[in-house]
Amino acid sequence: MTDTLPPCPECSSVYTYEMGALLVCPECAHEWEPAEGDPAEASDGPREIRDAVGNVLQDGDTVTVVKDLKVKGSATAIKVGTKVRGIRLVDGVGDHDIDCKVDGFGPMQLKSSVVKKV
Ligand SMILES: [Zn+2]
Repeated sequence: MTDTLPPCPECSSVYTYEMGALLVCPECAHEWEPAEGDPAEASDGPREIRDAVGNVLQDGDTVTVVKDLKVKGSATAIKVGTKVRGIRLVDGVGDHDIDCKVDGFGPMQLKSSVVKKV
């Protein structure tokens, strides 16, 4: 396995060796963390969060709710068509991936699958 070490990214030396979790170049003393797997695959960027119809959502977007949503601790539901301004994309609980404030309900997390970008 050690004969497949990548060359030094700084000076292209092929005499790199492993030191713990790091790779080390003996020629320029550069130390770096080896990329896991295919470097092209490792850099797949930020994950995309899409709304109910497949639009990519971004922080600050305004969305509307596409179905009635029961709210824990509230007698009323969030109605279809409720506009939610300034959403924030988060890695929330379960598959809740939108952090927002709904007028009349306050701050909460929603699933991107129940909203549509305006
Ligand atoms: Zn080097």
